[in-house]
Order: sequence, then C-alpha cells, then structure tokens
Amino acid sequence: MTGFAVEVDRLSRSFRAKDEEILALRDVSFRIEQGQIVGLLGSNGAGKTTLTKILSTLLLPTSGTAKVFGLDVTTHVKAVRRSLGVVFGGDRGLYGKLTGRDNVRFFAMLAGVGRRGMRLRVDAALREVGLGDAADRAVNTYSKGMRQRLHIAIGMIAEPRLLLLDEPTVGLDPVEAERLRGSVAALRDTGVSVLLTSHYLLDIERLADRVLVLADGSVAADLPTAEFARLADFTATVTVRGRGPAPGAGQFSGDTIEVASVTHDGAIWTARLRVRDWGHSSFGQLGQAMLGAEILDVDVAPVRLEDVYTQVSERLRTGAALKAEAAAGE
Ligand code: ADP
Ligand code: MG
Repeated sequence: MTGFAVEVDRLSRSFRAKDEEILALRDVSFRIEQGQIVGLLGSNGAGKTTLTKILSTLLLPTSGTAKVFGLDVTTHVKAVRRSLGVVFGGDRGLYGKLTGRDNVRFFAMLAGVGRRGMRLRVDAALREVGLGDAADRAVNTYSKGMRQRLHIAIGMIAEPRLLLLDEPTVGLDPVEAERLRGSVAALRDTGVSVLLTSHYLLDIERLADRVLVLADGSVAADLPTAEFARLADFTATVTVRGRGPAPGAGQFSGDTIEVASVTHDGAIWTARLRVRDWGHSSFGQLGQAMLGAEILDVDVAPVRLEDVYTQVSERLRTGAALKAEAAAGE
C-alpha cells in the first residue's frame, strides 16, 4: 500500500471512430495524495470523463497504468470499486418513483453494504447531503440540485476513501451549487480524497488543493491551486468608472499596468485595468492616467481562478509557454 489515493502513470486511451483513431488520453501521469481534492480542468473533449471512467474501472486503458490506493484498476476491479464512489453529472441512474431513501438503500446493497448498520448509514448519508427531510419523498419530486446531492449520498454510501465527481454542479442554480460544494468540503474533512471535474472555476477555487489541466488528452498543468492562480500574468483587476478623458491603450509606460478594455455608456466610461504587480509606482501611475477625469467609482478585485484559466486556455491554444516570464522569475 502506498500513500497515494491515485497514481496514474503514462496512461493512454484511444477510441476507434469510423476510420479515425481518437487519442483521448496521451501519456497522462499524476498523483492524488490521500485526503487531497484535485480539481480536473480542461475544455470539452480534453479527456476528463475518459480519465474518470478508467479510474472507476468502467473503461480500460489502452496503455499505461492507473492505481487506486496501490491497486491496479485493471487487475483489482472489485477492490477498487469498493474503495471509491463515482458521481457523473446529470440525473441519470436514479429511480424516480422510489424515495430518496430507497434509492440510497438500493445502491448501498449493490455496493455490498451489509444489512447490519445499513439503516444508520443510509440515514447518515442523507443527512450529510441535507436530504434528511426529503428522504421519504419520491425522487421525481426532487429539484436538480437535490438529485445531484442524492448522487453524492449514493457515491459515499459505501464509505469510499476516494470520490470521483464529474461535473457535479452542472445545471445547478447558485444556491444548490453552494450546498453541493458544502457537502464535498464536509467529505474532505473526513479524509476522503476527491477528483473533481468542473467547468465552474468557483468549485475549484473553493475546494481544490491542486489543479490538473488536461489539454487534448495531455497534462498541461499540475500545480497546487495557489500556484496555479499565479499563472495569470496579473494579480488584480482595477475597474474605474468616470467622465471626461478616459485612459487609453498604451497609456501606461512599463508593463505593470495594462488597459484591458474601455467601454462607453453615454458620457460615462468604464475602464478595466490589469495590474501585474502592486509596486510603489502603481498608484502614481493609476492617478496619472486618470488626470483630468472625474472619477465616479473604483473597484479592485484580486485575480480569479476564472481569469487564470481563461488566460491559460488562451496560451494553450496559441502554443505559448504556460507561465508568464515575469512570474517564472520569482
Ligand atoms: P471531456 O470529458 O474532457 O469532455 P471525454 O473524455 O468525454 O472528454 O472525451 C475525450 C475524447 O474522446 C473526445 O474527442 C471524445 O469525442 C472521445 N471519446 C470519448 N468517448 C468515446 C467513445 N466511446 N467513442 C469514441 N470517441 C470517444
Ligand atoms: Mg466530460
């Protein structure tokens, strides 16, 4: 037994489609430490679901190895399945006419949970995801968010030590998505390891210890979340609204501040400025650029993971180096 929840080594998977060979995963290697939440990012078709399916033994690799708690997913299928829970986005796979409780009980039986202690465990799982009060209602009366939380309750019923979540917040409203994030955070606090795929950068920002980016089947980045955030070539966005002369492109000398955009609404303009590093001259430069203008308000926002990912994706598309040179020098 190793100290890793997941060890993936040079994993590849191809599909035959018509006469074409699609390489969904190429030489993917990474690790998830026990108790860690790894956020898996990548555009559509990057290979995220393929990777999740291989880890959950639903799909075989073409080459390379994947281990869950030290056990190879292709040779220890039963043991691997017992150690993990999987939740795919969407609400397929639930029995709408049955109650939430009966759904959980059914999947618990499939997962090999014994009769003894079953009731307590089912109750605990439902309560954990906030479905205690709705447990005895038919699932087809549940909202999307409730169904998704029911999936999580099912995913954790066998007390997995690894949870694979593929787009768990897709289609949820903000309140439901926040509740679901709360459920995942609670699980992490019990020591469960998580591979979390999400398009919503907020999920990753809130939950992930590490970020893994897949691009075209390959690992493009694998970093602690805080370091990933530093891949952006700016640290903050300053939004200024004003009247009179607006700042223009090329306004700032040096490259610590950049005008990202200026929009006009009648006489009022809104300028978005990107600040690379806060330094002793930043405020002076900002003041200089606004000289003669009437400033209505100013908002300073730290860089969001969303901005970072947008920049990273752009660099991946254009084949530029991931890390900005200035950031690499620190
Ligand atoms: P993601 O989840 O990141 O959107 P997927 O893992 O679903 O990506 O897909 C990766 C690539 O593999 C895509 O090009 C997809 O079309 C292809 N693919 C996935 N499953 C199959 C399959 N069963 N047959 C053929 N191609 C597939
Ligand atoms: Mg997918």
